[in-house]
Amino acid sequence: MSATTTSTRTSNGFDGAEKLPCMNPATGALIREIPIATAAEIEAMAARAREAFPSWSGLSVERRGELLLRARDGLVDRREEVLDLLVQETGKARMDALADLLVLGETISYYTSHGPGLLADKTVSARLLKNKRIKVQHMPRGLVVNISPWNYPLDLAWSPLIPALLAGNVVINKPSEVTPLISLKFLDILREAGLPEAVAQVAVGFGDVGAALIDRADYVAFTGSVATGRKVAVRCAERLVPNTLELGGKDPAIVLEDANLERAASGVVYGAFFNSGQTCTSIERVYVVEEVYEDFVDRVIRLTRTLRQGVDAGFTVEVGAMIFPRQLEIVEQHLKDAVAKGAQVRTGGRRNPDFPSGYFFEPTVLTEVDHTMDVMVEETFGPILPIMKVRDAAEALEHANASDYGLNSSVWTGDKDRGRAIARRLEAGNVCINDCLINYTAIEAPFGGVKNSGIGRRKGEAELLKYCHAKTVLEDIFGASREPTWYPYSRAVGEGAVKAIGVLYRSGLGNKLRNILG
Ligand code: NAD
Repeated sequence: MSATTTSTRTSNGFDGAEKLPCMNPATGALIREIPIATAAEIEAMAARAREAFPSWSGLSVERRGELLLRARDGLVDRREEVLDLLVQETGKARMDALADLLVLGETISYYTSHGPGLLADKTVSARLLKNKRIKVQHMPRGLVVNISPWNYPLDLAWSPLIPALLAGNVVINKPSEVTPLISLKFLDILREAGLPEAVAQVAVGFGDVGAALIDRADYVAFTGSVATGRKVAVRCAERLVPNTLELGGKDPAIVLEDANLERAASGVVYGAFFNSGQTCTSIERVYVVEEVYEDFVDRVIRLTRTLRQGVDAGFTVEVGAMIFPRQLEIVEQHLKDAVAKGAQVRTGGRRNPDFPSGYFFEPTVLTEVDHTMDVMVEETFGPILPIMKVRDAAEALEHANASDYGLNSSVWTGDKDRGRAIARRLEAGNVCINDCLINYTAIEAPFGGVKNSGIGRRKGEAELLKYCHAKTVLEDIFGASREPTWYPYSRAVGEGAVKAIGVLYRSGLGNKLRNILG
């Protein structure tokens, strides 16, 4: 692909002096340079957004939903162009790029269809306040900032902001400095759909742009590494700004002796090498019960050797490029450390020499690994699949849980009950039984991590409601001239209340009375 240079003005109208080069990692070609937002521009963006907030939040949920559905139509109409840019900007396989489109489309569908019901006022019946009417309203927070990474640069830039917009917030995305173009492309689509310019904006730049936005946000959604997530959390804490952190993973797969080995091997290879292993929910370590270890490893190696790697010319490769040299270096360091400690490279194990101008690392399978090696304990985020032999399910579970991370995980077994029992004991936010990765597309279900993998949840009802303050509004119904508990206090009311507490909160009689009162 040849380098092209077009206008440097972004969709937000920036024309800053400092430019960001956007590269194609599969070819090394420059795609375009775009200006980085200056401090003054960030300030102006936040001010514009705040000005737009009253009118945007004043629209009905249905109207906001209509505009988002129109954007979904625009995304569908321009899907080939969007896929082209995704592949160009990330170097990923075209099939892998489909995930971005699918998840963003599904996110818009889910929230526009369920949002009006979820955001409607809710009536609450309080046992002690039968003479009052209580409603919960959902008040949008204001300016929601989403700071996103490069690995799914369309989905992770905009899917967290769809529920925020629907709830009536104004939003700014700070895309990864490595992949800003696809975020700007969807910004164009939103504008063509009729979203006012100040309601949704994109601030291009490095970490300092993200940090400056946190200082102006009312809510921060962050997806990225643990190290940056910690900095984001500290900055948010200084301003008491609520946030959600979706961070890294070191996802284990457990293969038991009763597994369908053909499915387990295919699933594990796919889960490890999809998006060149650069998925937060990639399978990064495998524990296989010794009875089936040799058979499983043979199948994995055979399948891995069939994977086609290269620059995708339209669904022609399974494994694309990695994102940038730093990511390749991490893979190489983990590999070197593992080999020095006794690991065996069973296939792959080097940069792909057929593509010297791109960042390609061959899909690699390692055996004879253990937890002294970085590749078994640190997030690698690359196409390396280490497989460890274990005695039994108990040992596999112990190793799986011996991690600072807890994002996704999988267990492969012919006995679903056994799989469910292990799922219950896995210390992770998500578990797949005889499956992998695909749970991320269930927009209806909560998604997130435990331990260092994150704080809070995305998707489902929670992701819409977190962008609102729940406001409880209590109304007196009968309009009496005073309440019995107001001034002046009286002995009769006080002693009556003491008796009532004795009855209400004592088990036995109290339980019966509570049941009668409802
Ligand atoms: P990163 O942490 O380097 O960067 C993420 C974003 O944070 C970028 O936009 C970056 O510019 C910005 N940033 C950097 N410093 C900042 C600061 N001080 N203040 C505010 N913003 C700052 O992550 P990355 O390399 O882009 O992404 C890869 C990581 O993301 C992996 O660890 C992966 O596991 C994780 N990830 C997690 C999920 C999930 O859902 N849990 C999904 C995808 C990726």
